[in-house]
Amino acid sequence: MNDKKTNSFKNYIYMLRFIFKHTPFMVFGYLFFDVLANLPWTLSNVVLLKYIIDVAVEGKDFYRVAVALALFVAFVVITNLCTTLFYEVSMPKQKEKLYFAIYKTIYEKAAKMDYEAYDNPEYYNDLVLAMNAMNERAYAVLSNTQDILTNIIGVLTIGAVIVTIDPICLVFVAVCVAIMTPIGRLIAKVNVERTEAMTPYDRKNLYFSRVFYLQDYAKELRLSGAGEMIEARYNKNIFDRLKIISPYLTKQWKLYFCQESLPMTILIYLGITLLMGYKAIVTKDVSMGDFAATFNGAASISTSVFAITSQFAINIRENGLYVEKFRRFMNAKEKMISGTNTTVFEEPPVIKFENVSFKYPGTDKYVLKNINLEIAPYKKIALVGYNGAGKTTLTNLLLRLYDVTDGAITLNGVNIKEWDISAYHRNFAAVFQDFSLFGATLGENVSMDDSPDATKAKDALNAASFNRELPDGTDSIILREFDDNGVSLSGGEAQKIAISRAFYKECPFAILDEPSANLDPVAEYSLNQSMAKAANSKTVMFISHRLSTTVMADEIYMLENGEIIERGSHEELMALDGKYAYMFRLQAEKYVENKD
Ligand code: ADP
Repeated sequence: MNDKKTNSFKNYIYMLRFIFKHTPFMVFGYLFFDVLANLPWTLSNVVLLKYIIDVAVEGKDFYRVAVALALFVAFVVITNLCTTLFYEVSMPKQKEKLYFAIYKTIYEKAAKMDYEAYDNPEYYNDLVLAMNAMNERAYAVLSNTQDILTNIIGVLTIGAVIVTIDPICLVFVAVCVAIMTPIGRLIAKVNVERTEAMTPYDRKNLYFSRVFYLQDYAKELRLSGAGEMIEARYNKNIFDRLKIISPYLTKQWKLYFCQESLPMTILIYLGITLLMGYKAIVTKDVSMGDFAATFNGAASISTSVFAITSQFAINIRENGLYVEKFRRFMNAKEKMISGTNTTVFEEPPVIKFENVSFKYPGTDKYVLKNINLEIAPYKKIALVGYNGAGKTTLTNLLLRLYDVTDGAITLNGVNIKEWDISAYHRNFAAVFQDFSLFGATLGENVSMDDSPDATKAKDALNAASFNRELPDGTDSIILREFDDNGVSLSGGEAQKIAISRAFYKECPFAILDEPSANLDPVAEYSLNQSMAKAANSKTVMFISHRLSTTVMADEIYMLENGEIIERGSHEELMALDGKYAYMFRLQAEKYVENKD
């Protein structure tokens, strides 16, 4: 518990420093102006009230009250002006600046992280959480700090006033606080337990909301009874939540009642009223103003201390947990070490896999075993095999998205680990099975930068058989996020755009994972032709389940269970009459059957 508290505190300081680094004025303004805005009311409750009552009781001139009120109003107007200017003009801009800094930091960190980090659920959860909640949490940290500071200043100022009137009142306050604080801690503990007990149910709720708002599920929900099934589960989850939450609520209301009502009522409202009332009315040791001021002040101090020890403590803990995840994400170290070689080849070099074996991080199973291969420049290489054979993994290793577990991959004899990672990636144009299109123009989606060469982009699109004429040519916006008139694409069209990237990029290697999966036979035929043409300037490695595409490859590698079991040209493998020949014939028969 103590460790957690220290961490929460450290997390708070970390976040405050982060905010201060990016928007120092926001921290200063937020803390200073709130204190400034609250001060007149805090003082009026005690000092002004005492003054007015004393003037009235002593029968002094009314102009004293008028002057005091005028000064008070002037102070309020000036602080109001400052705080309104700050909150309404400066604050929204500062907030934008802070959100920008948070997201920029997260995006930069996420883009720099090893690809394998995405296989780590903890990293991924932290990333999602940081993306979704960090801006609000950062703001909450600031606002909570402000509340604490305002209350501490309130306690100190009012405490100072009360001490000058009758220090005994502070004893009442101290006893009240001594009773309230441990109960406050207990409330915080129950609250944390309640939040922890709710977590699995909250996670399920998030899943349900995803199912109902994401387009991915919309078709299935409409066409099947899945909606009712999910709704029933949702209802059950809500019911379970209520069942789990009830005992915590019962505990909490009792504690809140004990904490707020009893000490406050007995010690402050009754105790101080009786004591100070007696001194004001019977013994006349204090004035009526003192009586009113101590009563108000003691109540106000108790409430502040109560807030600091319970509610704010809960907030610190809760916000601290989010900051902790943000920190963990920001402190995650990249495991993949970048070298210093920055060569980007103009001519394709020789690729060599030397005894390469690989298992995914955190797993025990080798998914590639003793792979040895040598790929000469400009060759067209096809990787074939059943699902899970290790084809994508092999390209992932060549792209250095993961480092090999054993063995080495070399380009012209130089280990790829010696490259600076981003320079190394400039050698490759890669089209993945799960490619992504971005909310940008067609040209930008081909060039993957913000200054596409329109003619080159068109040629690349043609090479990938993308022949659809869009209203603004390569300037047409793709997807609807940035433009209501953004172009919607079929799966095949999207895939052609992704493929065109491999033709656009000037680099020695193209790697295509399942390039023809969504293509019709005509587009597939054109793609084969284009790939043959592209091979004049690049080494091309492609993974394909459609064996018609592999016919034109110079060398085919057939993988099974992480090993290369057959290699050679199409003719050689057909002559071998092994697994490749079996698969090819099976597909050819199917194709003939389908045609009939
Ligand atoms: P293929 O491309 O031939 O279908 P993959 O290379 O995708 O096969 O997968 C090879 C093996 O590695 C499979 O058993 C798969 O389950 C496993 N695998 C793939 N990606 C990961 C990953 N990120 N973490 C753990 N195992 C993985």
